[in-house]
Amino acid sequence: MSTTATTDISQQVSSLRAAFDTGRTRPLAWRRTQLRALAELCRREEARLLDALRADLGKPEFEAYTAEVGFLVGEVQHTLKHLRRWTRPEKVSTPLLNFKGRSAVHREPLGVVLIIGPWNYPIQLLLAPLVGALAAGNCALLKPSEVTPTCSALIAELVPNYLDADCVAVVEGGVPETTELLAQRFDSVFFTGSTRVGRIVYEAAAKHLTPVTLELGGKSPCIVDRDVDLEVAARRIVWGKFFNAGQTCVAPDYVLVDRVQEEALLDAMSRTIEAFYGSDPLESPDLARIVNERHFERLVAFFADGDVVVGGRSDRESLRIAPTILRGVSPDAPVMGEEIFGPVLPVLPVDSMREAIDFVRARPKPLALYVFARDRAVADRVLSETSSGGACVNDTVSHLVPPDLPFGGVGASGFGAYHGRATFETFSHRKSVFDRSTRVDLRLRYPPYEGALKWVKKLLG
Ligand code: NAD
Repeated sequence: MSTTATTDISQQVSSLRAAFDTGRTRPLAWRRTQLRALAELCRREEARLLDALRADLGKPEFEAYTAEVGFLVGEVQHTLKHLRRWTRPEKVSTPLLNFKGRSAVHREPLGVVLIIGPWNYPIQLLLAPLVGALAAGNCALLKPSEVTPTCSALIAELVPNYLDADCVAVVEGGVPETTELLAQRFDSVFFTGSTRVGRIVYEAAAKHLTPVTLELGGKSPCIVDRDVDLEVAARRIVWGKFFNAGQTCVAPDYVLVDRVQEEALLDAMSRTIEAFYGSDPLESPDLARIVNERHFERLVAFFADGDVVVGGRSDRESLRIAPTILRGVSPDAPVMGEEIFGPVLPVLPVDSMREAIDFVRARPKPLALYVFARDRAVADRVLSETSSGGACVNDTVSHLVPPDLPFGGVGASGFGAYHGRATFETFSHRKSVFDRSTRVDLRLRYPPYEGALKWVKKLLG
């Protein structure tokens, strides 16, 4: 992996700040040009981006395109379409006491922002925040994950070729480089990664009073009611869980199923896995591999935490793990303690919806929650009695797709949100501007106050 010398880092941040201070990122024209260039990067370099994702994660082309390159193009297009409206001052009402004047919220860029990406969607999760950072008129410094070195090197090569290199920079590296970066003053830090590192980022940003967005992980539950379309539920759970071999922050982490449906659900999911990945999933071209040996070992160790219903096979050489479903898992087992982040799915029976809800509520607030139920009232009850960053009813993962749904966590799964307009807002300061005419100047507010209070009381109602 190539890295950026830590001594160069503060120099790089200073150059970005100097570029921001010239004001060149503010005009809409600059923002549009950058966004178009980012879409151009995705389109023209599609083959190299997909190759890099295959090299680092064995991503099937379909998954690499839909969840990374194609997703980014969609975000750029949506942003370009709405940017003028988003940047217009937003008029709000003005009370009589402020006669005669106008009130509006202006969006202004924050300045120089730092975006730190993880390895599981190494291109999308680094560049989707950049879409909003550019749209809002900021300079940005990108830090790709060192765990996916091919993608990191490719981004470092391509970004300066397509985007304004004075305003967008890439720093490659791991802990030492990120530590050095976090010692600098930024105007916003956008971090996607683990809760553990999220704490480090938050603490470092606090020294500069820098606002942060933390897109973290956690254990996203999937609840299956007794009255449910089992075949559809099985397909949608298996798809969401084993997409990118389970290395997805919003993948269903575990399933809580009504005991009367446990057997039937396990059977439907086992059949679905075979239909999706064939009789030997280790050979399937549609299943990604595990990112590295450390995660491979961590995941294979989970096999011992329950009875293997399906899967349970792995190949250390190719870092592949077959989609694996476990039953008979204790809530205290290691697999139920940490975010799984791989193709292992524990299924736990519950006796009632109350028990399922209490199980979720007793744990840190997850990034996503999924509920499968025919009865809308059951789904509504789960939604209203639990808290999660986002949720789907009768589906998994798909709430990330509509660009107008802000995506983010709550509690331990993070704070702040992005996608579509939310990304633009994340990187904008909402400046309240009151603009008053000088033609009328009510004397009421000025001393001496004698006699004024009764009129003010009347005006305030
Ligand atoms: P990670 O926290 O290990 O690394 C993320 C980034 O932080 C990397 O760029 C890494 O270089 C940097 N980093 C690592 N250690 C650091 C340290 N000590 N100081 C400063 N920087 C450091 O996370 P990961 O393993 O790349 O990603 C997996 C995690 O990310 C999972 O928990 C997953 O749920 C979460 N995630 C969340 C989202 C989301 O949108 N909420 C998306 C993807 C992944």
